[in-house]
Amino acid sequence: MGIATVNPATGELIKAFEALTDVEIERKLALAQHTFEHYRHTSFAQRSQWLTAAAQILDAEKETFGKIMTLEMGKPLKAAIAEVEKCAAVCRFYADRAAEFLADVPVQTDASKSFVCYQPIGVVLAVMPWNYPFWQVLRFAAPALMAGNVGLLKHASNVPQSALAIEDVLQRAGFPEGAFQTLLIGADKVAAVVEDHRVKAATLTGSEPAGASLAATAGKQIKKVVLELGGSDPFIVLPSADLEAAIATAVTARMINNGQSCIAAKRFIVADTIYDEFEQRLVAKYQALKVGDPMLPDTDIGPLATPGILKDLDQQVQTAIHQGARVLVGGKPLGGRGNFYPPTILTEIPLDSSTAQDELFGPVAMLFRVADIDTAIQLANSTPFGLGASAWTADEAEQTRLMHEIDAGSVFINSMVKSDPRLPFGGTKRSGFGRELSIQGIHEFVNIKTVWVK
Ligand code: NAP
Repeated sequence: MGIATVNPATGELIKAFEALTDVEIERKLALAQHTFEHYRHTSFAQRSQWLTAAAQILDAEKETFGKIMTLEMGKPLKAAIAEVEKCAAVCRFYADRAAEFLADVPVQTDASKSFVCYQPIGVVLAVMPWNYPFWQVLRFAAPALMAGNVGLLKHASNVPQSALAIEDVLQRAGFPEGAFQTLLIGADKVAAVVEDHRVKAATLTGSEPAGASLAATAGKQIKKVVLELGGSDPFIVLPSADLEAAIATAVTARMINNGQSCIAAKRFIVADTIYDEFEQRLVAKYQALKVGDPMLPDTDIGPLATPGILKDLDQQVQTAIHQGARVLVGGKPLGGRGNFYPPTILTEIPLDSSTAQDELFGPVAMLFRVADIDTAIQLANSTPFGLGASAWTADEAEQTRLMHEIDAGSVFINSMVKSDPRLPFGGTKRSGFGRELSIQGIHEFVNIKTVWVK
């Protein structure tokens, strides 16, 4: 399938789009560069006014945008609407704070005056995934536009209407034509865009192969990249934890977005003394979840985004079973129309198996029993990923160890991992590098210039 909206709940082709021709891509690149030359001189106050207007449009039309997302990738409508609200919040956050984040920083040296200033770098390409079709884009666009850069979006091929809607929101908000453009192109055209002399940097949120490919192209051109890649986040539960809260959160943390979130808890690492109770209660909660039409308000889990994702997940679960894992609930696609997969729990996964190392991108939880905190931390750190981690304990000494010894871009104690505009977001190891959100996010795509006056 090329660039198209296909309803994942029914398999119905809703709308197909022609990819841009090379001539059309060239026109958009030229417009982006031309726009940057004057956009970079606009004031923070002006950019802030446009971004605040974008937030107002997002809030006012959240049901419309939510329905587009649910139709294109299957997340429950109530979650899609909440995603649009979060996009409005990130726009307001940067509209309010960017001038402060990018203010000159005086530094005492032997100069009569020396300081650091932050300047825009130009056209930045964002290659984005389908799982949070609005949020992933707005968390890039809001700081990029406030910093004085202009954006080009290559969105995932299954969410073209989301991509076009975001471009339209920013246009209607008042940003100059060319400040933010959607490129309807396939992945095969990304390298040429990255190589183009007018594109100064790129960010990619998605899979490891896509990230590695983009980074290799950008590296040859000496261009900066930020990569937000996969994860297999641990969720550690130790004996002193509030079990009720941990189990309730273990449902949301794994099932959010139909299980297709990079920072979803994927490996539940539970202390031996509480393991049996945790397992039993989690199974009951997963069995009670309602799988079905994502447009309906009482649906907990909608379809996976594409038939390919369903097939891959099924294959991973079958491999896990073959390697010795036991299925406690779920374990195979629901069949019939749409890409539906039930909430699933795997246990007794051999620690040396490929499954224990893999990211399962769907509603499948892996349960591990551990003797103590040392084994828990060792297991948490045993995958190639390092995105987020959630750990549950009331013991302060254990909390301190978990904060410092888990190898991840974030550690949340007694809470699930979540992104927040006020806090930096990103990974370590093969989960990527660079940060989005907060002050660190807006500093990724600027020239950090040193000024020294004798
Ligand atoms: P994907 O296949 O890598 O797609 C992501 C984007 O990259 C799409 O726009 C895709 O375009 C494009 N793309 C694919 N191959 C490319 C290549 N060789 N060169 C340049 N661009 C390429 O990702 P996915 O499998 O759909 O998404 C799920 C993955 O993303 C999971 O691993 C998940 O953990 C990760 N993720 C990470 C974060 C984070 O913040 N760390 C957030 C969300 C998701 P097409 O659609 O046209 O192929």
